[in-house]
Amino acid sequence: MKPYQGQRLSLLTQHGKEQVIKPVLDQWCGSEVVHTQAFDTDTLGTFTRDVERSGTQLDAARKKARIGMALTGLKMGLASEGSFSSDPCTGMFSWNYELVILVDEVRQLELHWVQSAPCMALNACVNHWEQALEFAQQAKFPGHHLVVRPDGADHPQFQKGIASPEALRAAFDWAKGISHEGVVFIENDLRAHANPTRMQTIHQATTVLAQQMNSCCPQCGSAGFWVRDVIRGLPCRCCGQPTALPLAKRWTCKQCDHHQDVRSDSAQWADPRSCEACNP
Ligand SMILES: [Zn+2]
Ligand SMILES: [Zn+2]
Repeated sequence: MKPYQGQRLSLLTQHGKEQVIKPVLDQWCGSEVVHTQAFDTDTLGTFTRDVERSGTQLDAARKKARIGMALTGLKMGLASEGSFSSDPCTGMFSWNYELVILVDEVRQLELHWVQSAPCMALNACVNHWEQALEFAQQAKFPGHHLVVRPDGADHPQFQKGIASPEALRAAFDWAKGISHEGVVFIENDLRAHANPTRMQTIHQATTVLAQQMNSCCPQCGSAGFWVRDVIRGLPCRCCGQPTALPLAKRWTCKQCDHHQDVRSDSAQWADPRSCEACNP
């Protein structure tokens, strides 16, 4: 039997994330996700820069999970929290990190996974309606919704969740009317229900969390036996010295600290070019 078979898990979310989280957990883990939106999660932080999130992404997710558990009276809860920055390689593209967490008070266990992926998070300042339409196309509107404000990124007034050409036209005229320079700032709405690209990344993060929840420690049987480290030291083909390349993945139990190093079948030896001794 799977560890979370028949277990009820709370899920606090307001932005439609239950549509991708609940089916994965219910089907893969046999659990019953109980959705609640009895708390305004926007008070913990928004992507429209009007409410700053306090603490880390993990802190925020944990807090949401615990509020959801309190609201539903359940001992186990799920939550997710997203963040956005630039891609780690070139820094030129928008990048999205989606964290999904399980807080399990019965087992005193916490599991989470962060999935990163390119995202649809564009913005632009425009003066003319034609430019607004052009931007909307790049931003994958109307499938992805938009936020519009006068002047620039930090104007306190804005309209979000814009999902139709008519609403976009009205918002554009509204913002242009307020701006002294006639400048309109348009950006992707980053809330999950307004951003299908993000929703897909949340789905991917959830599938990994579900796999962790199903993976049991061979020593103590607890859920959450998972790869948490990479062991380096793949030996050089020429001299046999350990290199910095990965040698094995370390599977670790969070409950009893049992671990297993599993070597990959693909690479037995490192190329001498990666060897400090052969190629200093
Ligand atoms: Zn264990
Ligand atoms: Zn060598």
